[in-house]
Amino acid sequence: MIYLDNAATTPLDNEVYETMCSVMKNHYGNPSSVHAAGRNSRVLIEDSRSLIAGLLDVKPSELFFTSCATEAITTAIHGVVKSLGIRKIITTAVEHHAVIHAVEDVLKSIPARVSFVRIDKDANLDVQQLEELLEEEKEKTLVVIMHANNETGSIFPVERISKLCKEYHAVFMSDMVQSMGKYENKLSQHGPDITCCSAHKFHGPKGIGFLYLNENIRIAPLISGGGQERNMRSGTENIYGIAGMAKAFEVAYRDMEKNREHITNLKSYFVEQLKQYFPELVFNASCDTKGLYNIINVSVPDVYNNKLLLQKLDMEHIAVSGGSACSSGVVSVSHVLKALNANADIPALRFSLSKYNSVEELDKTIGVLKKILLKK
Ligand code: PLP
Repeated sequence: MIYLDNAATTPLDNEVYETMCSVMKNHYGNPSSVHAAGRNSRVLIEDSRSLIAGLLDVKPSELFFTSCATEAITTAIHGVVKSLGIRKIITTAVEHHAVIHAVEDVLKSIPARVSFVRIDKDANLDVQQLEELLEEEKEKTLVVIMHANNETGSIFPVERISKLCKEYHAVFMSDMVQSMGKYENKLSQHGPDITCCSAHKFHGPKGIGFLYLNENIRIAPLISGGGQERNMRSGTENIYGIAGMAKAFEVAYRDMEKNREHITNLKSYFVEQLKQYFPELVFNASCDTKGLYNIINVSVPDVYNNKLLLQKLDMEHIAVSGGSACSSGVVSVSHVLKALNANADIPALRFSLSKYNSVEELDKTIGVLKKILLKK
């Protein structure tokens, strides 16, 4: 299998696997229990929290472990809007569905207004329009703008947005799921007030993530119960997941430069090959030249044999995604490509790379693509 779908999820890193196996064997106590077995688990959780906080340059008390980024996003959007009296939400049309649906849901009970910041076809955000929207708004505002887009890999200027939000006293939440573990993301300096993470996007386990909430922001929890995670997220902690996520962070930061160089080289090579053999492919959001270093999103016009591409690639043991959101096995038109006005009605392919990919795999993929796309 050639796995080129790393923006969807990544294979587990071996060191993470070893760590989790050891934790599963040795840390069985409930972290809320007062006895030694419980304390053993508690120490592991707090050490994991401190490790991640140190890498992101935030306080450990600002991190709350959740089951995934979707939970963190939902907690944040519902919590901020309801607890802080938000009456205006400024966002974009290219956010992940976790954000889009949380915003839609919260608006069912809170009479807030929503504005969408313009984005051009190369996925540049109109920062000037954002400033105008913030300037004219008199009510308490929440800005929700992602860092890196999961479909096209385009990157929005989080530091600039963060400074603007501070200037206009708006709360800023940024979904940094796709950039965590790939960039240093120091949050205390010009970072967003709120962000989220899912460990499975950078070779950590599935089913664990966190919510980062700047200490100045106090919101009501989404899940109440036993009061774990300082009342922000009740439920017995996923100790194996937490330790696995901390290890995934450690490995990602330790090897960041090496991996970044490797993946960037792979991306350039693959883009070159695609351009050479399939000159009519359209690179969406200029993802051949900028954006995340692991994502390439191309639309495949019908000068090529562009029917059932994902299925044909799958039959050749190559895993990629469509450029569109695909949930429960149903591929629908991409809201991201639609918002960019970029070929949303023709099939798109998203290739997303990781440290485990190689030039040989990309060569084989090009060979298979020749077989599929050029067969008329
Ligand atoms: N945000 C972005 C940008 C993502 O890519 C994803 C996952 O694809 C999510 C949020 C949601 O992550 P999870 O499904 O792990 O909760």
